[in-house]
Amino acid sequence: MTKTISGIAASDGIATAKAYLLVQPDLSFEPGKVDDVDGEVAKLKNALDVSDSELTNIRDKAAQSLGEEEAQVFDAHKLILADPEFTGAVEQKVKDDSINAEQALDEVSKQFITIFESMTDNPYMQERAADVRDVSKRVMSHLLGVTLPNPALIDEEVIIVAEDLTPSDTAQLNKKYVLGFVTDIGGRTAHSAIMARSLEIPAIVGTNVVTKEVSEGQTLIIDGNNGDLIVDPTDDDQAKYKKMAADFAAQKAEWEKLKNEVSVTADGKHFDIAANIGTPKDLDGVVANGAEGIGLYRTEFLYMDSPELPDEESQFEAYKAVLEGMNGKPVVVRTMDIGGDKHLPYMPLPEEMNPFLGYRAIRISLDKQDIFRTQLRALLRASAFGKLRIMFPMIATIQEFKDAKAIFEEEKQKLVKEGTKVSDDIQVGMMIEIPAAAVLADQFAKVVDFFSIGTNDLIQYTMAADRGNEHVSYLYQPYNPSILRLIKNVIDASHKEGKWTGMCGEAAGDPVMSPLLVGMGLDEFSMSATSVLKVRSLMKKLDTKELEPLVEKAINESLTNEDNIKLVEEFMKNK
Ligand code: PEP
Ligand code: MG
Repeated sequence: MTKTISGIAASDGIATAKAYLLVQPDLSFEPGKVDDVDGEVAKLKNALDVSDSELTNIRDKAAQSLGEEEAQVFDAHKLILADPEFTGAVEQKVKDDSINAEQALDEVSKQFITIFESMTDNPYMQERAADVRDVSKRVMSHLLGVTLPNPALIDEEVIIVAEDLTPSDTAQLNKKYVLGFVTDIGGRTAHSAIMARSLEIPAIVGTNVVTKEVSEGQTLIIDGNNGDLIVDPTDDDQAKYKKMAADFAAQKAEWEKLKNEVSVTADGKHFDIAANIGTPKDLDGVVANGAEGIGLYRTEFLYMDSPELPDEESQFEAYKAVLEGMNGKPVVVRTMDIGGDKHLPYMPLPEEMNPFLGYRAIRISLDKQDIFRTQLRALLRASAFGKLRIMFPMIATIQEFKDAKAIFEEEKQKLVKEGTKVSDDIQVGMMIEIPAAAVLADQFAKVVDFFSIGTNDLIQYTMAADRGNEHVSYLYQPYNPSILRLIKNVIDASHKEGKWTGMCGEAAGDPVMSPLLVGMGLDEFSMSATSVLKVRSLMKKLDTKELEPLVEKAINESLTNEDNIKLVEEFMKNK
């Protein structure tokens, strides 16, 4: 029976394919004694063998579809399986204690994980904890006879159905086969949604029910423009969505014509429209969509894609590739923003009640200065190859900015002394994503070169509503007068000091927001590359002289988010 499941539209596009359920199976087990110890050892050996051949298969598929580097993690897993210190200890435990293999595996792997995690002075060994956890999970699944989902093995077109996708799950999706994804939880500005937009695949998040309502292999149509998922569509549905997909493609072709133009309003005012990227691989999309620069390079993905902390050389290569790829156009690189929903398997962070309010971003960089200094050195060296701007994430106090800037200056002086070529024209700015900084923007403006407003976080912190929690997603209110006042305060404050303000949160690419932001004089708009041409086309219809009264009304007369949606829609009607 056909049914429609609705969620939050997270990434545009329409696709049809079979469902692939990426649901973690229940790996709980009954601990207990066994009489037949030999039988139990045989069961264990069998699970180890099956895990090994499965890993070989996954490794080969991953190498083909994602590349050798991505496949290496599975080699590390195979080594653990072959390590007698680990698997031999499990076998010995079954024999010595006459316990079942599940319990022995669980106890031994916990011991190993604890030992590895405690090696705080040896990051390489610390990183092995995550590998042991993964390998144990795989062996446990075979002991229990349940199947672990293996996204790396997907070799036909599918739409992924999952409770949630972490940013690193999303990074592993092969766009050739994964035509879209739908999740139970998540919000529009969670990082998996942001990554879906840069992969240009449709996505729906926060449906609450999709993993319960959809079974493996069912035919799905995903409509990422409206947030609807059609399960077992009729022929009529198929025809209707085929037409919608064709209309969407035609609309995109129309926008394409603006690819080589600059972004100007009807009255000839120029605004920079830049793109957000997560890795140098995203450059293709940036160039294809004619962005006028990069307004946010989320460098944490470089750390997340690597099996260990990336060294100065590999970071330098990545930053240089982006700067050269942009051919002299500005590139704003944000220093590492780990924490919140972004984790590094090899750098376990303390368990926190509220990770988004915790140990994150610049707070980690100022604390673990060796990691921060390595990143800054790589950036400074790369600065000779293009127009680099650096910004710090999650700045809450002026002192944090000053401390981070002082470390930057120290590393710069060291490199200059060593005779390394470094640009003497690197602007250093900060993200405005914490309300404290937005309120005090006039003071911050005296010490920074620029601001970039991160609305994803600024809205979650101002409204006190977790950006990844679908139950409070109604509080993601970019047009709420409170948010608009903060944004205007920041832009005005920067201009008073002769500085500029960009926006790299998702609101920068939102068509309802565009007239308001142009009206406030935002200098740079940075968004998913796929939104650049849509906003450029919209900008052509705006006359800045008409926008001042619109902003005035939105900030001082409207009471709600909805008031402002109506206000802008009414305004745009005759354009
Ligand atoms: C933001 O918070 O708006 C932002 C751009 O940063 P991120 O989404 O990576 O937290
Ligand atoms: Mg942020």
